Amino acid sequence: MSDARYWASAAALEGILDRLAAERTLIGPVRRGGDVYFRPVQRAADLCRDYVNALEPPKRWFLPTPERLARYRLPGGVSVPGGDTPRELVFFGIRSCDVAGLAQLTRFFSGETVGRPDVADGPFMARRERTTILSVVCQDPAETCMCVCCKGGPALDAGYDWQLTALTSGWLIEVGSAKGRELTTRFASSLAPAGERQLAEQAGRIAGVVESFHRHSTRRVQSMAAGRMVSQGRLPEAFWSALGERCVECGGCAFVCPTCNCFNVVDAPEAGSGVLPPAGGPEPAVPGGPVATGAEGTFERIRLRDSCQLAGFVRQYGGSYPRATCGERCRTRFFHKLSWQFVARVGTLGCTGCGRCVQVCLGGIGIDAVSQRMTDALVGAPAAAPAAKGA
Ligand code: SF4
Ligand code: SF4
Repeated sequence: MSDARYWASAAALEGILDRLAAERTLIGPVRRGGDVYFRPVQRAADLCRDYVNALEPPKRWFLPTPERLARYRLPGGVSVPGGDTPRELVFFGIRSCDVAGLAQLTRFFSGETVGRPDVADGPFMARRERTTILSVVCQDPAETCMCVCCKGGPALDAGYDWQLTALTSGWLIEVGSAKGRELTTRFASSLAPAGERQLAEQAGRIAGVVESFHRHSTRRVQSMAAGRMVSQGRLPEAFWSALGERCVECGGCAFVCPTCNCFNVVDAPEAGSGVLPPAGGPEPAVPGGPVATGAEGTFERIRLRDSCQLAGFVRQYGGSYPRATCGERCRTRFFHKLSWQFVARVGTLGCTGCGRCVQVCLGGIGIDAVSQRMTDALVGAPAAAPAAKGA
């Protein structure tokens, strides 16, 4: 919990956001056709206020897809980095589960999770470093929200620059970083130190959300029991193949997940260059793989979002598939979400409880259902094996 806590009236916060929108790119929740997305806005008045969470996490602003990583000409092999200095972004209204997800992506792409800062991902880190996060504590979670199970919310202790809580009158602001302190100094005339009454109101509101979740929510990420089963390899092959039967391999679960970081890198003729694959040249063993010998022209190296749930992600040069069945790939994905081994390496569960995979999964195998089935398997309950697809 932050030591530095301030209070701002609604009008004062509006003024701060308007100033930030004039200087940088302000991104926040906006409603489009019934759903909410994070999009740039010109002024604070354009922001949506009555939303639970955005349809997708803010991941696309840090890992755009497709993303050109490099451009080069053949023959010659001269590589031309395509990256420009990213814009200064300010995000307002990110929910705690997505702040926790972004923190996990940052640990991964900075090389921290493998103790290798020298392999940090330049484009991701450049964007992350030029971003300020003004998160907003949830007070009215959706039926699919499970952050309470995963230490992903409703409020956080770290990961934000400012964490805001809407109070009866105005906003409580918690400062969580050097960037946050700079903002506080800059807008000092709009802020006042938070008083006991405001701190008590915030604590009461957060406790109310947690209590309401425990009383009323029917969904859980069963991280303890499920983590034990998956960490110790206690789930039989039949468990995973039954999950694989239900998965239609759409990749939706990974694409909407704030923590999933899988991507693929492909080489292709630059769009509009008119380059065609060389006639009669050897085919790449993998579609999108290294360009064929003898190719000429301008090419791009492109990053695309991917998922360990999909067959193409595990396909190897030469055409083999180490995790050939969907069930095996389900095992990998849930190992990365729930296992103790993963937690030891990354520091947290691979799930922040945002609930999006529950919403999008066509096979009904969101993390709540799967972790419940793992728990059933631990205690020997009959629901351990999921029903077949279409049941
Ligand atoms: S696994 Fe599901 S609930 Fe957990 S963070 Fe990812 S999308 Fe959200
Ligand atoms: S959303 Fe469901 S059906 Fe789609 S890939 Fe993920 S687990 Fe499979």
